[in-house]
Amino acid sequence: MIDDESFDVEVVDKSKEWADFLSKKYKQEIRTIGREFPYKRSLIINYETLQKFGKSGVRLADELLSYPNKVFAEVRDALRAHNLLARKDAHEIIPRMNIRFINLPRKTLVRDIRSEQMNTFVSVEGIIRKTTEVRPRIVEAVFRCPSGHMTLREQGYGKFVEPESCGMADCTHKRLELIHLKSKFVDAQKIRIQEIPEGLRGGEQPQILDIDATDDLTGLAAPGDRVIVNGVLRSIQRVNSGTKSTTFDIYLDCNSIEFGEKEFEEVNITEEDEAQILELARDPNLYRKIAHSIAPTIYGNDDVKEAVSLQLFGGIAKEMPDGSTLRGDIHVLLVGDPGIAKSQLLRYVVKLSPRGIYTSGKSATSAGLTAAAVKDEFGDGKWTLEAGALVLADMGVAAVDEMDKMAKEDRSSLHEAMEQQTISIAKAGITATLKSRCALLGAANPKLGRFDEYVGISEQINMPPSLLSRFDLIFIMTDKPEKQRDEAIALHILKAHSVGELIMQHKKNPIDGVNEEYIERELAPVTPEIDPVLFRKYIAYAKRNSFPIITEEAKGTLVEYYMKLRNLASADKPVPVTARQLEALVRLAEASARTRLSMSIERDDAVRVIRIVDSCLRKVAYD
Ligand code: ADP
Ligand code: MG
Repeated sequence: MIDDESFDVEVVDKSKEWADFLSKKYKQEIRTIGREFPYKRSLIINYETLQKFGKSGVRLADELLSYPNKVFAEVRDALRAHNLLARKDAHEIIPRMNIRFINLPRKTLVRDIRSEQMNTFVSVEGIIRKTTEVRPRIVEAVFRCPSGHMTLREQGYGKFVEPESCGMADCTHKRLELIHLKSKFVDAQKIRIQEIPEGLRGGEQPQILDIDATDDLTGLAAPGDRVIVNGVLRSIQRVNSGTKSTTFDIYLDCNSIEFGEKEFEEVNITEEDEAQILELARDPNLYRKIAHSIAPTIYGNDDVKEAVSLQLFGGIAKEMPDGSTLRGDIHVLLVGDPGIAKSQLLRYVVKLSPRGIYTSGKSATSAGLTAAAVKDEFGDGKWTLEAGALVLADMGVAAVDEMDKMAKEDRSSLHEAMEQQTISIAKAGITATLKSRCALLGAANPKLGRFDEYVGISEQINMPPSLLSRFDLIFIMTDKPEKQRDEAIALHILKAHSVGELIMQHKKNPIDGVNEEYIERELAPVTPEIDPVLFRKYIAYAKRNSFPIITEEAKGTLVEYYMKLRNLASADKPVPVTARQLEALVRLAEASARTRLSMSIERDDAVRVIRIVDSCLRKVAYD
């Protein structure tokens, strides 16, 4: 492959322009590299600083995007020609230095990458899904011919290139020997990122991009990290069972990695949005409106919807004086008969959550729910650390369907993931602790397929008490035939279907009497009261701005209820009543206060969450 980079006709001394910029803006950094090489060997240039550096800055910045390789060479030329490192041996150091750029204004989505971007400099946002071990990779291979002649071959990403012969005239030797000692190696790590969940429109599968990180960029990133990766898009030819294909795979030749949670403006809230949010917060019917905005096509289940709405807002994570942390995320489990709209609800919540991920307990990925160290084709024989759903949903909601069917390994790591909100991996020399600060919304079917009225609940939930006790709320959803309710559900479902159909027909072929007013009236029961886009923003706003503190009255109410619970608890129930329930009550009360963007948790919040907790515990902890 040839990197075809056309050159400007205009004659400008680029080296001089770069030297001017670097000596004005990066003098100290360059001197430090000069002093501390090889410990410090990367010059990190802020793209914005360059772009703001007058007319030449704008030009150089533009050039980087289209002709990155040329720019890297020009920067090195400038460093060399103007002796910016202030070292006699600078010419030896400069080729070994890394020129890195960060803070690019425009980000490309993985799904929008196209062939015209090949060999250009791009900035991609994503969440790290997999990382391989860091291993040396050969970049300059030196071969020796039995005749004694040495040949050097530069090596790229992917396939190892061997010379056919040493190339000397009349040399007949075919087998050349690789000389390790004379070859050059670099640390390399393969990373796979996937699109961030909040960038996806509900239900889309995230797309992935592989990253080739080398030298001091290796070993920095862990699965689950949210990153901006900057670099040059490159292609590599696919090989299908030995024959070269005409299609190419792309990867990003990594130039820099930026980490951060704050940099991610997950949800963009304008001033207009803020006004709408504040108005909604003052609405006297706020709680009802919110519950009715969660999966309105699902009839009933108001208690579950209320709980889920609290989960979306979440409690407040706290750091204890002893350095330990207390989670703020609320975990909810739905155990119910099949066909009761559990899956439907989970999918809806994922759409509403600013960072939601839907997965099934019997998911096919090797990482499962938490994380795993695997040896697969991605790692090319090396160990790969792969993030599962709970790591990818960090700072969001992980909806896990069919939880009762999850693998054994997941079950044990789930304990840690749910309470400490970390996942530790120690396998094959890989030791890592990944973050999983997410709220878990689980759904499971009863052990026997359906609930049996005559068998104790604890025998029917296919999960150990240790796991169950980590859920703040557990709902038992039974599907007993009940004339009135069944009829209401049936009408509700048919309404959603028929109105949907009517609108489709009307769009194709306007129907007399069907106008917007009519549609709105007919749709009312199945339309969310709060528009989902605004609702997402509302949640993000609350999480960013509301940190309520508990009042004495609320405290008293919660403690009183907890004391009562301890007395009521019966030993033969699946969920033991422990201090965990008190923590759950506090978290839920925080979420309740947050829902109206309040600064304090009032007695009403306590009463509201006690009602919800009690209706759950009545079934699983006492009678
Ligand atoms: P589960 O995961 O509990 O087995 P699903 O979420 O797959 O059930 O639901 C089965 C179907 O029944 C879905 O299409 C769902 O919309 C419908 N359904 C079940 N209960 C209700 C309800 N209360 N209101 C509206 N639709 C319902
Ligand atoms: Mg289901």
